[in-house]
Amino acid sequence: MRLQGKVILITGAGSGIGKSSALLFASEGAVVIVNDLQEDKGNETVEEIRAAGGEASFIQADVTNPDSVKAMVDTAIAQYGRIDVLFNNAGISGVGAIHEVEPEAWDRVIAVNIRGVFLPSKYVLPHMMERQSGAIINMSSCIAEIGLGRRASYSATKGAVLALTKSMQVDYAPYGIRVNALLPGTILTPFVENYLRTSYDDPEEAIQSLKKRQLSGDLGRPEDVAKAALFLASDESKFMMGSPLYIDGGVTFG
Ligand code: NAD
Repeated sequence: MRLQGKVILITGAGSGIGKSSALLFASEGAVVIVNDLQEDKGNETVEEIRAAGGEASFIQADVTNPDSVKAMVDTAIAQYGRIDVLFNNAGISGVGAIHEVEPEAWDRVIAVNIRGVFLPSKYVLPHMMERQSGAIINMSSCIAEIGLGRRASYSATKGAVLALTKSMQVDYAPYGIRVNALLPGTILTPFVENYLRTSYDDPEEAIQSLKKRQLSGDLGRPEDVAKAALFLASDESKFMMGSPLYIDGGVTFG
């Protein structure tokens, strides 16, 4: 059991990578606090964890809303006494080049993907600082490193999360807190399927063309990222601080 007894809060754990991570973490002995905006999806994750014999609870919150996030953290602390690991996973896609993106759509992507890292961290960190330990995993993307067209708002947020991760690491290393980032490539989740459906006339052709960009010749699965998240959540990664961890089938440097 690589996470025995750890209390772990995962945002956006009702779907995709967050859900896969929640299931894996629980199977490794963690108590998982599942957050999502969507109550039905979050509860589904909890039910699956419990059906497999794991321990989990759901807290609905919008990661862009300070009151909602503070209430979530207060509830989690009241229930479990601590949060050992915070996985800032929730995120949304943003499609379009700058001239195509409406200001409101831009603001929402910035809010979920950056404010959604800031707020949970802001309210969890004082508890970790008090205990002089903790790990935070921030969800960036390999898009922070590579130029991909028509993803202006999304690229801006994931680059920001990578820079924020490094800044956070400097600030909180003195408190024994590690902050690292995940940089996935294209992972087949509802998030990507929705992007392909709305952006391409022929999503299957788009998948084949994306596969050709990978050194691996295939796209990733949520479990691939969950396994990397497990490593960053566990003490096995205790010498990793402020690091970007690529799970991208080789697309970034291929
Ligand atoms: P997904 O859409 O399957 O899951 C995201 C979850 O976040 C959903 O359940 C959604 O309800 C939740 N969410 C959205 N806004 C929220 C909010 N304001 N408050 C709380 N929850 C909210 O997506 P996914 O593919 O699993 O992506 C998870 C993360 O991984 C995102 O940050 C995404 O940018 C990142 N990522 C994904 C890929 C990929 O190819 N799938 C690649 C790189 C990075």
